[in-house]
Amino acid sequence: MMNDENFYNSESIREEWHHNLSQDDPHRSGIQFARRVRLARMVGLGAMFFPISGVLVTHSLSGGWWLLLVGWAFVWPHLAWQLACRSPDPFNREMYNLKVDAIIAGVWIGLMGVNALPTAALVMMIGMNMMGSGGCRLFLAGVAMTVLTALATLEVTGLVITFAPQPLEWWLTLPILVLYPMLFAWVSHRTAIRLAEHKRRLELMSTRDGMTGVFNRRYWETLLRNEFEHCRRSQRTATILLIDIDHFKSVNDTWGHDVGDEAIIAITRQLQLTLRAGDYIGRFGGDEFAVIMSGTTSESAIAAMSRVHERLTKLSLRGAPAARLRISVGVAPWGPQFGHYREWLKAADVALYKAKNAGRGRTEVAA
Ligand code: GH3
Ligand code: MG
Repeated sequence: MMNDENFYNSESIREEWHHNLSQDDPHRSGIQFARRVRLARMVGLGAMFFPISGVLVTHSLSGGWWLLLVGWAFVWPHLAWQLACRSPDPFNREMYNLKVDAIIAGVWIGLMGVNALPTAALVMMIGMNMMGSGGCRLFLAGVAMTVLTALATLEVTGLVITFAPQPLEWWLTLPILVLYPMLFAWVSHRTAIRLAEHKRRLELMSTRDGMTGVFNRRYWETLLRNEFEHCRRSQRTATILLIDIDHFKSVNDTWGHDVGDEAIIAITRQLQLTLRAGDYIGRFGGDEFAVIMSGTTSESAIAAMSRVHERLTKLSLRGAPAARLRISVGVAPWGPQFGHYREWLKAADVALYKAKNAGRGRTEVAA
């Protein structure tokens, strides 16, 4: 589409599109999810290595268990990440990895004889990951898996439950008890910021015209409806304008569509430069614009428009310096005779029609 190409040529907008498209891609968002879990898993399992090894020393367990512990604490986080990355469905693969976490945690809890402090730390870590990733359902499933595996490990190894931790186990577990919730909160905070940014971008895209960046028709009409209600309630002054480029078809026909697009953007900029920051400019599509001027009389609106007419006489387009742009404007101040905002808009349309019929390049006010 020619229209939007101009606007999306700008690097920041391209980036924005790319960002939005990638956010909608389930594969990409699955990878982002797996990346967040990888960080939590690396820190959590790495830190859990120390209290668990403290207990294993006490229980004098064999070398095979040590190998499993080192693999789980330092290799598994990377392996899980690779498995998620390479999977066609990274999100579901990561959910599966989280269940593996819960099952292996149960093995360690059993091997530690349900030693209270490291067990609490493991359950906290697995529980936070499960709750944060899949809500109550995954959390309950994870807890059930951990408990069942812990019971099975106790059964198979014949270890007895030694609930009370030794002083060394206290010291080795405290860091993770303090640091892991902070890490989790930090990751959640970053996710919340990213979501807020995503929401802001979506809002921007749904309210703006792609080519010019001013409000699109749908949103502009929402603003008009609000303004209309305000005026009706508090009898305040407001004026709306409908603006149409004169003989725009011949601009396109003579200079080409690109110059036509440049003209639309140039006129938008002239409106933005001339009008107040509080005036709402919208593009109705094609070569038609609309403006809401709150607290402004029709006389002030006409004065503002004569400044725009004046500026346009001096405006020179890069693609066609000889082209001269003119606009016709219909002005309609709010009045109690309007029962609906569409009647107000209709009055501005009639005034615009009058300006076209009276020879164009001028501003006319609704009768
Ligand atoms: P009038 O003075 O009566 O308004 O004559 P006009 O030629 O401007 O007529 P009209 O407003 O009906 O024509 C609008 C034209 O604008 C029709 C269409 O080809 C062109 N147009 C609509 N949208 C775009 C756009 O985004 N880019 C370009 N280059 N042209 C557009
Ligand atoms: Mg026109």
